[in-house]
Amino acid sequence: MMDFICPYCFNKIKRESLIFECPDGHRKTATVMERLSGKVKCSQKGCGKVASKILCPNTMCNSQIPNDMLATPNLLFSIVGVSGSGKTNYITVMLEELSRTGGLKLALGYQNIETRNIHRKNCKLIYEDHKKPEATPSGGVPPQIWRIKNLNRQTKTNIQTYTFSIFDGAGEDHENLDLNSSQCRYIAVSEAIMIVIDPMILRSVKNSLNPAVYANSVSFVGDPADKNSGDVVNNISTYIKNISGIGVNQKINIPVAVIFSKMDALMDDFRNRPVSNSSPHEKEGCFLYSDCRAVDADIRSWLISNGESAFMNALEANFKEFTFFGVSSYGSVPKSADELYAVHPHRVLDPILWFFAKKNYIDSK
Ligand SMILES: [Zn+2]
Ligand SMILES: [Zn+2]
Repeated sequence: MMDFICPYCFNKIKRESLIFECPDGHRKTATVMERLSGKVKCSQKGCGKVASKILCPNTMCNSQIPNDMLATPNLLFSIVGVSGSGKTNYITVMLEELSRTGGLKLALGYQNIETRNIHRKNCKLIYEDHKKPEATPSGGVPPQIWRIKNLNRQTKTNIQTYTFSIFDGAGEDHENLDLNSSQCRYIAVSEAIMIVIDPMILRSVKNSLNPAVYANSVSFVGDPADKNSGDVVNNISTYIKNISGIGVNQKINIPVAVIFSKMDALMDDFRNRPVSNSSPHEKEGCFLYSDCRAVDADIRSWLISNGESAFMNALEANFKEFTFFGVSSYGSVPKSADELYAVHPHRVLDPILWFFAKKNYIDSK
């Protein structure tokens, strides 16, 4: 079996070094035979209980590793975004909608209590209280670890199960970051990255929007002139290159979903265009690359016609593979700066379904 990445300390772990703990707190490593049989017995004299709790062997960590994670393929991805990009809202709504997909026949489950608690808290705020969640505090938020079962891939006795972990780092502007911080170390081991971009940072968007819509949608402080969109991409990629040890003249070779949040504010621009159509993947029961390409092309041409090609050039200069997505977490412009209407998410699953399709967690065509 392959090595895997501990979702808490982000170190590469060899399976034979995993620690097994019995209910009385005795710890041991397991023999190959024990691990294959799935039953590890405590070797403490007079105990002999089953040691079923599995811990990371890194002594600085020793976190409990969800059993499913060890038995299934795991996709580790991170979400980055400048402050105010709506990243936390987006993650919450995306996960909640993922648990409600009918057509894709996916069953979502959390892998630890922290994951459930963070998700429930933010869900209640958005779906019931109609409030925006607070920005992610710097440091200290554990990665969320989830499991999905694909009901389209089952036999009488088993069902294909996959896990994924997401790290929602604080929305720093990705300058002066500590390369030893959890966020940086997580990005260095990520297999895919979502960059959430608030379209309000584009000067052309600010200039074209009705001031009231702009005021209710915007959540960063200051003028967009201070947040040049090309600079944002350059900062994020310099930071990914630094932590991953990638040379300045090399492109980053991990798939990047560039997600424009708050598309609800731009619906006049996108009327009758692919982005404003509802997402077809769920109805189709699989990921449709044709739709994904149409949305990507749509957003690219919109950026060019708005004079925002510097932003695209910055992406192209740094990333080997990036695809544009347009989402609306709430489905409408917020009622006020901190109040929402009832939530009707738009296309929020497209980016994660793209990752799932690439990783063959779900079918695609
Ligand atoms: Zn660990
Ligand atoms: Zn024991």
